[in-house]
Amino acid sequence: MNYYSLHHKSPKTTFKNAVVNGIAPDRGLYFPESITPLSKNFIDNIANYSNHEIAFEAIKQFVGNEIPDEKLKEIIAETVSFDFPVVPVDNNIGTLELFHGPTMAFKDVGAKFMAKCLEYFNQDNDDEVTVLVATSGDTGGAVANGFLGAKGVNVVILYPSGKVSDIQEKQLTTLGQNITALEVDGVFDDCQEMVKTAFLDDEIQKTLTSANSINVARWLPQMFYFFFAYKQLHKQHKDLVFSVPSGNFGNICAGIMAQKLGLPIKHFVASTNVNDTVPNYLVDGIYKPKPSKATISNAMDVGNPSNFIRIQQLFNNDLNALKSAFSSYSFSDDETRETMKEIYKNSGYIADPHGAVGYLGLQKHGLQEHEYGIFLETAHPVKFLDVVEETLPVQVAIPEQIKKVIDKEKVAIKAASYEDLKNYLLQ
Ligand SMILES: *Cc1c(COP(=O)(O)O)cnc(C)c1O
Repeated sequence: MNYYSLHHKSPKTTFKNAVVNGIAPDRGLYFPESITPLSKNFIDNIANYSNHEIAFEAIKQFVGNEIPDEKLKEIIAETVSFDFPVVPVDNNIGTLELFHGPTMAFKDVGAKFMAKCLEYFNQDNDDEVTVLVATSGDTGGAVANGFLGAKGVNVVILYPSGKVSDIQEKQLTTLGQNITALEVDGVFDDCQEMVKTAFLDDEIQKTLTSANSINVARWLPQMFYFFFAYKQLHKQHKDLVFSVPSGNFGNICAGIMAQKLGLPIKHFVASTNVNDTVPNYLVDGIYKPKPSKATISNAMDVGNPSNFIRIQQLFNNDLNALKSAFSSYSFSDDETRETMKEIYKNSGYIADPHGAVGYLGLQKHGLQEHEYGIFLETAHPVKFLDVVEETLPVQVAIPEQIKKVIDKEKVAIKAASYEDLKNYLLQ
């Protein structure tokens, strides 16, 4: 499979190069040259297939022959190694829980898949690849865990000192081996800026790549979730409406890819916090990125969602076509907390702030009688313990995955400026 740049100024390239380089030389995001729907027979009989078989069918064409089928199956087995249950919350609403992986946020799937692809592509190469990633919290842990022990791949994670939760910090600073954490004296935007500067620095001769959802190997496996939900729900014979708590819009964009592959999904709702660039665009057709604002659903604090350009491409840049299949609404922290309370009162379900924003999106969309709404629970409530325990009369039990890291010792290198990162990379 070949990929082209959405800036249209770089040559087409292979899946391998798209994964290894992350972004095209013209700074555009890579996009697959073709999308071929899966057979109707497969979709109709999806319940007869295992999650591994479904994932293989969904992603095979996007990898092409650059990874042998047997190897790809192995990678999928390592990636899809936990459950993705749909849990009923109301009569006509369920939540797709994506947090049963090792770091308890949905990014585990994309991070592991990308790590395994990169490891495969780099196996005969003497030069190591360095993965640079800036995190506001969840990405760092998922990337550290996903890439741990990957041969020929070094990972450098930059995180803002004092701005991530204790659990998140432990997840990204305690693994060792090929994972290094840089604790940056600054905010997330400073970390992001340092990463961008490194990519443009000619003195750094190493192969650098990024592990956020601009990378096709992190973005595409997120399609699996929507297939797994359909497998559990198709017997109800209802029209499915998915609400996806969105920040960089990678997850929802993968859902739209699944729809292009033939999955019967009626409508998508992209639910955001007050970082409302996309909801505003749908209203007036003007795309105005702005600096991000801090919220209680902080994994979605993004003022310029990088994957939105891919969503526009999926609708041939036709705003009216986009609006017929896709809505986007923004919600405040107060509304989010109220909704966490309402969900808990009505059903006993503990939603994290991101999931609650997703629920609000379904409410705002308004479900018809023949529709079933699914909101994605993108993180376990324990990852946002302060907010959850402040808002709800509950104490969240600490799951095994989290207990494992809580007592480990943090190891991080302090970084105050880009020079510190550069010195580290030049060592
Ligand atoms: C990353 C993240 C999101 C946003 O996903 P995008 O693909 O960036 O839209 C939502 N919730 C949680 C918990 C996350 O970690």
